[in-house]
Amino acid sequence: MAKKTVDDIQVKGKRVLVRCDFNVPMKDGKITNDKRIVAALPTIKKLIADGGKVILCSHLGKPKNGPEEKFSLAPVAVRLSELLGQEVVFANDDNVVGENAKAAVAAMKDGDVVLLQNTRFRAEETKNGEAFSKDLASLADAYVDDAFGSCHRAHCSTAGVTAYTSPNVAGYLIGKELSIMGKALENADRPFVAVLGGAKIEDKLNVINNLLEKVDTLIIGGGMAFTFLKAKGYEVGKSLLDESKIDYCKDMMAKAAEKGVKLLLPIDTVCAAGFPDPIDGPVETTIVDSDKIPADMEGLDIGPKSRELFADAVKSAKTVVWNGPMGVFENPTLAQGTLAVAQAMADSDAVTIIGGGDSAAAVEQMGLGAKMTHISTGGGASLEFLEGKTLPGVACLDEK
Ligand code: ATP
Repeated sequence: MAKKTVDDIQVKGKRVLVRCDFNVPMKDGKITNDKRIVAALPTIKKLIADGGKVILCSHLGKPKNGPEEKFSLAPVAVRLSELLGQEVVFANDDNVVGENAKAAVAAMKDGDVVLLQNTRFRAEETKNGEAFSKDLASLADAYVDDAFGSCHRAHCSTAGVTAYTSPNVAGYLIGKELSIMGKALENADRPFVAVLGGAKIEDKLNVINNLLEKVDTLIIGGGMAFTFLKAKGYEVGKSLLDESKIDYCKDMMAKAAEKGVKLLLPIDTVCAAGFPDPIDGPVETTIVDSDKIPADMEGLDIGPKSRELFADAVKSAKTVVWNGPMGVFENPTLAQGTLAVAQAMADSDAVTIIGGGDSAAAVEQMGLGAKMTHISTGGGASLEFLEGKTLPGVACLDEK
């Protein structure tokens, strides 16, 4: 369902509360990477240009017992002022919507920007409590959500507040996530290929199930592939294995066959005597066919034949969605499989979507980010999207 965006509303003279994702990495009170702040600029600039009174809010980190100096958004206000080239007033209230915030908002002129303190300084935030939702809404006439990474959570600032604000619309970041990933899942250009990897199969059970309804080819690599290989009757040595999911994998293989979906598993595997320690330390490897993994070895990456098989499938696609690395990519010796998939996606002219988290980090690390159609800004949120779940932070936005 298409959602209204900042392009669909008039904000001149209105107080607009914008939920941003300013959950930036910090060290010793300094922002170490401002990408998320930069990513929020288009929506903020649009609202300023349209004459809105722009009130920003976000969480930062995981404060446990209320306000904590190290989780203050003060450094974000400073950086944002520099990037916007105008003052961002930081309303420093321990209870987020306090005297400072109220006074700052009351003094706003059209085009001014105020940043509220970390929403998680209020314990009710993550419980979607009514009082804090109402407090936030009391500052605003309209609400814009641009924090895709948080919209799979029903919190006060992502969902609760919208019961008391109107209109409620998406910012450009969420708008892009919804249109690109939504199209891929509802109406993909075909062939549609999904690539899943990562360590734990448990995390992606529902994703596998949902994607089998949508894709032409499902590629499974990484640690989760070994439970599938075991389900095929192969021995997997010391590789990651979830015994409790073997039957599930059998069901998924049967479902793929029934739906005519090609399910590709690694045909060869890069093995070592054990998991590298440290993770990026030296490791001696051998390559074996996936049905011949020795009992005393652990599979840690897909082998060269699998790389070619997977890359060919990716290259023939018109839409590719990827979530999770093909091996222990943190180690250069075991990063070849992940690199091969990333490179095949970068070389293809398909719509290429990276589902956040480790895969996004791997693609950026390899310098291939600019070659992808879309890198999702939310790992957990994009996974739930791929699962076919309704995201609470999206469900509460106005429909077009
Ligand atoms: P994403 O963030 O892209 O969604 P993820 O974080 O959900 O991926 P995880 O399930 O956390 O994925 O798996 C990522 C981890 O999987 C990486 O740290 C990687 O080292 C590990 N991994 C990949 N392949 C293997 C393997 N064969 N054996 C053990 N660990 C593996």
